[in-house]
Amino acid sequence: LGRKLNAALSSLNRAPVVDDKVLDILLKEVCAALLESDVNVKLVASLRQKVKAKVKASLESGADKGKDVNRKNIVQKAIFDELVQLVDPGVEPYKPKKGQSNVIMAVGLQGNGKTTTCTKLAVYYQRRGFKSCIVCADTFRAGAFDQTRQSATKAKVAYFGSYTETDPVSIAAQGVSKFKKERFDVIIVDTSGRHKQESELFEEMVQIGEAVKPNMTVMILDASIGQAAEAQSRAFKDSADFGAIIVTKMDGHAKGGGAISAVAVTKTPIIFLGVGEHLHDLEKFSPQPFISKLLGLGDVQGLMEHMQDIATQNPDKQKEMAKKLEEGKLSIRDWREQIQNVMNMGPISKIASMIPGLPQELLQGSDEEGSQRMKRMIYITDSMTASELDSDGSPFMETARGSGTSVREVEELLCQYRMMANMAKQAGGKNGWLQAAQKMQ
Ligand code: GDP
Ligand code: MG
Repeated sequence: LGRKLNAALSSLNRAPVVDDKVLDILLKEVCAALLESDVNVKLVASLRQKVKAKVKASLESGADKGKDVNRKNIVQKAIFDELVQLVDPGVEPYKPKKGQSNVIMAVGLQGNGKTTTCTKLAVYYQRRGFKSCIVCADTFRAGAFDQTRQSATKAKVAYFGSYTETDPVSIAAQGVSKFKKERFDVIIVDTSGRHKQESELFEEMVQIGEAVKPNMTVMILDASIGQAAEAQSRAFKDSADFGAIIVTKMDGHAKGGGAISAVAVTKTPIIFLGVGEHLHDLEKFSPQPFISKLLGLGDVQGLMEHMQDIATQNPDKQKEMAKKLEEGKLSIRDWREQIQNVMNMGPISKIASMIPGLPQELLQGSDEEGSQRMKRMIYITDSMTASELDSDGSPFMETARGSGTSVREVEELLCQYRMMANMAKQAGGKNGWLQAAQKMQ
């Protein structure tokens, strides 16, 4: 989906003029990409109309000043905003608070990834200083408790369950009350999914819900179920009124569009994405960065979070960086440091899509090739003097022009740096989303 949307937007950038015809073709491509990844037909049709109306209104208000560059921006922004709308129901999900017990109940059909996600969630919160644990209330599937025991042990998270008790409601109640007494911050209740949607399952959800009174119920949705996501989430919403969605298996060939439809039909926010089978394969979800990444525009917020994870090992550095961001000052040196951090973070394919200004072409090919390209960027900065490194790069550009080094490459590098610096500027400051993001933690 990302690649197709990205391609559609690049064709917009290449178009010499932006007239109704260009807009129509572009919208057709965007809509085709969405439909192909299983986004509900009605949602796509409505997106198309809204973008058209927005662009028309903007142009009529004279915002384009007759320039095609501005028209392109207007079109791009309208598409971006409408895509964000698709995944943003405008509802704030529950945020666990420290120093109290936060009960999170996971619901969803069998095989959707509940048990795996419960462990991932426990690890996620544990790493952020919440004392976390898991209660296995799945008595339906043989081996369910064993699975919890094994994964919780591996993750070094406390767990509760029983081999003999057959009443899920009783187990859930016992586990939650035990962990509350032991002052756990995050108590995650894993439930049975059974095989299909059946009244017994929904009745069980209601009863467990009444017994443990969750602060938040999360529906775990498998990205690969496509259009079925709509009916499934509607059915669950009726009996286990969930307040958040986690979409799993986003790493596979899943199209994921069904999940978008689920958000729309239940007006419930997605809070995380499951992106693999391992404990750490859980990504925080926010609408704007997600769409930004999808369109190849980067995900500064995700990048910052990664950087913060790394920076916790070096608090002084972190403070310095936070100050720079707040002031909106980011030198080439800082930027280079971040690229280097990125290279130390893991597979380039996973991280690189978060960096704004990295065109999708850069991400193509193997991880090895990707990291070669990054090394090349660092290599260019190696020939900068100390004062050039501390600048915004313009002095180096002059030197490069004079000396005949590959000006195009330097230009490309500076362009990417500027995008990052610009986004950092927007992010920093008192009203920037970086502050907001930190408060959310
Ligand atoms: P449950 O029946 O809902 O509890 O589902 P499980 O947690 O047992 O998961 C079912 C299967 O999906 C297991 O093989 C998991 O490893 C796999 N799985 C869960 N989440 C993800 C994910 O995000 N990515 C991938 N690739 N596999 C996942
Ligand atoms: Mg399970």
